[in-house]
Order: sequence, then C-alpha cells, then structure tokens
Amino acid sequence: MTITRIIFLCLILIVACKSPDQTRDSVAFTGATIIDGSGSDPIVNGVLLIQQGKVVAVGTKEQVKIPENATVKDISGKMIVPGIINAHGHVGDVKGIEGGHYSHENIIDNLSIYARYGVTTVVSLGGDKQDAVPLRAVNDTTATQRARLFIAGEVITGKTPAEALEVIDRNHRMGVDFMKIRVDDNLGTAQKMTEEVYRAVIQRSHELGYKIATHMYYLEDARKLLDAGSDMLAHSVRDLPVDDAFIQLIKEKKASYCPTLTRELSTYVYRETPAFFSDPFFTAQYDSTVFSPLKDPARQLQVRNSTSAKTYREQLPVAMANLKKLCDSGVPIVFGTDSGIPTRFMGYFEHVEMKMMADAGLTPMQIIVSATRNAAEHLGLKDLGTLSPGHHADFLILDANPLADILNMRRISEIWVGGAPHPNPLL
Ligand SMILES: [Zn+2]
Repeated sequence: MTITRIIFLCLILIVACKSPDQTRDSVAFTGATIIDGSGSDPIVNGVLLIQQGKVVAVGTKEQVKIPENATVKDISGKMIVPGIINAHGHVGDVKGIEGGHYSHENIIDNLSIYARYGVTTVVSLGGDKQDAVPLRAVNDTTATQRARLFIAGEVITGKTPAEALEVIDRNHRMGVDFMKIRVDDNLGTAQKMTEEVYRAVIQRSHELGYKIATHMYYLEDARKLLDAGSDMLAHSVRDLPVDDAFIQLIKEKKASYCPTLTRELSTYVYRETPAFFSDPFFTAQYDSTVFSPLKDPARQLQVRNSTSAKTYREQLPVAMANLKKLCDSGVPIVFGTDSGIPTRFMGYFEHVEMKMMADAGLTPMQIIVSATRNAAEHLGLKDLGTLSPGHHADFLILDANPLADILNMRRISEIWVGGAPHPNPLL
C-alpha cells in the first residue's frame, strides 16, 4: 500500500467517522418576543433555533442552548409569529382580477404572492387540476420560497349520488388532500345539492380517508352537514344566528368553522372605490393597472344595483356575530378567506380578514391561533402551525406587536419559509 493510498484511506475514515455536524446551518434568533401559535403566553426575550429548515427549539434564553457554531441573529425588540395558514383559499386560476389562467406557472405565481404577504401555507379548496399535484411535493420539504400548497381538486357536484361519486373518484385518482362539496342555492337562484347526494359524498370521502370541507350558507344546511359528518364548514352561517344546539353539535362532531368574512366583503365592496386601493401594503403588490377596472363607474353602479351583493352585505353582521359566539363557545375557528377568486386579492385579503375578525370581537391571540395551530390541527397539516421542534421553520418577524393590534401583522420585517429568508418580501 502506498503512502498516498494510506493517507487517502485515513481521510475517508476521518470523514466517515465524524458525526454529522449538528450545528451546521443552525440559526438562532434571539431577543424577540415569540408567539408560538399554540395560544400560550408569548415568550419574552425568546430564542428560536432552527436548522436545515426545521425548528429545533423554542423557549427562553435560559431554556434553549445555542450551539457554538450557530449563526446568532439578534432581533431584540421584534416579534416572531408562525407563518399564516389560509385554510380556505384558491390557487392558480387568477391573474390580476381575472380568472381562467390556470397553469403550472400561475400556481407558482399565486403561491409567491401569498408568501410575500406572510401566508406560508394555502389550502386550496377547489378548482385544482393536475398541474397542482407535483407542486405539493414541497409540503414535506424545506425547499420552497413560496407558500406550501394543499388541494381539494374538483369541487364535488352532482344531481345523483352516482354522479357525485364519480367526481370523488377522479379527485382520488388525481391525488388530492381534501374533498370539498358545495351545498348552496346561491340565494335561491340555483339548485342545491340534495341531502341524499351529500350524505353519500361524505361517507365515501371518509371511506377513502379524506376530510371533507363544505361550502354552505344556511344554518339548517350547516346542521344537516355536520350531522352527516362534514369535517369543516368552509364559510360562515349567514342567514340566522347560531343557537346552542348548533354549537353543541359542531363540538360533538369535532368539526371546525372557517368564517371567510372577506368573501362577503368582496361581493359589495366595489360598489365604490375602496379605501384600500390607496393602501401601500396593497399597492406594493397590486398596481393601479390591475385594479383600475374596479374604479369604473358603470361597474360600480352594477354592484350597487346587485340584489345578491345587497343581501350578502346585510347578512355580514350575522356572520360576524356568529363567529364571535362560536369562538367564545370554544368551537375551533380555522382561518380562511376564499381568496384567489377574482377581486379577492390573495395575500392582502388575509390581512383584511384578520382585521374583520377583530372587528367581530376576536382577540388578536384568537385570530393568530386560528391561522396557525387550529388550521394545521383541524386540517391535519403535518409539521405546520406552531413553532415547535420538528415543525417547518415557516415564520414571520414583525416590527410591532400583533397582540396589541392585529394590524401589526402587516408590519413584516422578514418572512422565513422552510428555514430560509424569503427573497422578495412585501415590505
Ligand atoms: Zn372557496
């Protein structure tokens, strides 16, 4: 054996025996107040330790030992919150204010917009096609600079159980994460899915191992859907105040409730030029060429004359009162907007939704928990939601305290997705 060969073998041995360097790529964020998403009190002067895209530890500086070789980022005076999870959005169809643009590229574009606003995970509840399937691969990895994506495929419709079950089969073959049905007559203008059909759909979805989210409007439908086993009410009950029997039922069934208040807002807000068209947090993403058609007086008049817009507007206070009552009663509220539909501006509307939830009477902590722990827990999103060891390092660094005012969720200083800083945050 030559000397060179011996040296070479020794080198291999040294490399092979060296235990993996646990400190490599470790980053410790120190000095911040950390809201971990669980609903626990914030950790003052906390340490968030991440490595290779995952959270390693979170706690006070006494609790978390920072590895010697870690990069330490002192962010004293700032706040850390988990990335926002939108449990009811849509992805890939919209460009500007127009639908009909579904493509691989547009899904990536939409997910990038969400991420720029701090929305690091989107559950797309319908309208998802084959192009979306490979893009979900990042959900188990750290390799993303855009929002993670979960999909429901085609919204299930059908006049008969057989028709509806065919849609489920197609979704199942495509490889979706959830099923979604629509049980609504659009304020009396359309045929509503029958109880026979949705019972068959819910049963089949559960047999195949899927949670099922339901689009609904009326209290009576919501009751029947819960009774049939719907796992998530994907909108507010908007016709009537919820009663105690309903609250008991939703808790008994361990279902969750997704208010989507901005969905209602979007139906009537363009009756005039909304104030947010001059909000820099909006215009940083959406320039005036995008939204100028919504300033057209003829279009605004049309919205003012729309009877459905009038009804949705009148019923919004019912939805808001229901949200407050359900939240106070301990019903799990999961955050969602129904954005990613034309004129529901993805990213920005999530922040409007949070403000509307606050206006409905929820505390900032309740709102944050709905958009973090609750969304992940009730939709079964793996390794997401709270800043806990093993979870993806998806989080926001804020310049101001969102517990003092939920509008401070907009004061984003940095966005980290999968343990890497977002290259193009909206600042
Ligand atoms: Zn929707």
